[in-house]
Amino acid sequence: MVRPVFRLSANATKLARKGHPWFYADDCAGEAEHGALVEVEGVQGHPLGVACHSRTSKIRLRMCGVRAAVGEDDAGFVRALVGASLARRDAAVPPEGAERLVHGEADGLPGLVVDRYADVLVVQATHPTIERNLDVVVAELVRLRAPRMVLARHDLAVRAREGLPEEVRLLHGERVESVEILEHGLRHRVDPWRGQKTGWYLDQAPARARVRALAKGRRALDLFAYQGGFALNALAGGAFSCLAVDQSQAALDLAAETARRHGLQGLATRRENAFAALRGLRDSGASFDLIVVDPPAFAKSRAERAGGIRGYRDLNHLALRALAPGGFLVTCSCSHHVGWPDFEAVLRQAAAELPFKVVLRERIMAGPDHPAWISLPESEYLKVLVAQRMDPRP
Ligand code: SAH
Repeated sequence: MVRPVFRLSANATKLARKGHPWFYADDCAGEAEHGALVEVEGVQGHPLGVACHSRTSKIRLRMCGVRAAVGEDDAGFVRALVGASLARRDAAVPPEGAERLVHGEADGLPGLVVDRYADVLVVQATHPTIERNLDVVVAELVRLRAPRMVLARHDLAVRAREGLPEEVRLLHGERVESVEILEHGLRHRVDPWRGQKTGWYLDQAPARARVRALAKGRRALDLFAYQGGFALNALAGGAFSCLAVDQSQAALDLAAETARRHGLQGLATRRENAFAALRGLRDSGASFDLIVVDPPAFAKSRAERAGGIRGYRDLNHLALRALAPGGFLVTCSCSHHVGWPDFEAVLRQAAAELPFKVVLRERIMAGPDHPAWISLPESEYLKVLVAQRMDPRP
């Protein structure tokens, strides 16, 4: 199979040797169609591997891996990567469970996400190379997992930047409106057509398990609750009560329905801006023994980083002020551009000038079905810190 070849500059070759997987237009020379798979070579002509090519993105080449297998044709190459990705998944997730089957570059497939909700698969392609090979991806998913439905959730603004249509489209099987998944013993209803992202925030499964373990006897507050992933785990873990706040009424209604079905008592929901809710709680003097703060990404690009960090700081300051003595704060950032040290600095600043001490107890990342490519720090996007309020005299 002869693929177009891109040669890296001397500088980019050095970066490539260190494992760097992204190259801009200035870093490389070559010609290929939008979305072609290309061979990449160093400045001296030695092969470095296969990359996904985009003509429109600032990132011209995204490496699929290190010296990825060459030989085979594009369909065989993509098929092998999908198969390898599925083979890496944890055999312990039950058929009625949910997991990420393909996690973008970390699985060698830049711009491809595949989430499994029981027997339903939801695909998000954000790179033209994946779009071109979508039939191959879907055929391999069908062959290996025999899903009832494969749905494309391509209603994503990033697709427009790659010249791809924004759409939600049935790719295989029957139309499934809603599917039940089992996570930590709770059954949640996921709407793959209309839910946020692909329907459920799979990446927070480990943090939700921690919240369950911390919750006994506590009065909990779940900010940015969506369908109550954290709130329901808090109640299942023995929380005395939980107030779930989100701007989406549809999501809160699902949280309430799940609580009813499981006979979980003590859930209150409030449709409100989380910042406003925290200010209201402050003014009324309310306090909680367990607070979860899980906002959407405040810094979606490097340019938004400073503003995003301010947002996190203000939010966490308000949350810490609502914490009762001995209370836990479980605070999250899913911004690619805010690293662990940045996020810990946020918490430090949020804790400054409070009349009590704040100690860091744990760091939690996304689950093992969301691997982070060590050469691509941005791929470790989710950071969860568990902090506790310590008073001089308990
Ligand atoms: N904790 C959830 C995921 C949260 S995702 C889980 O475990 O599944 C972020 C949520 O924040 C979304 O449900 C979105 O509707 C909500 N949201 C975004 N901005 C908000 C705001 N300013 N106030 C309240 N909710 C907001």
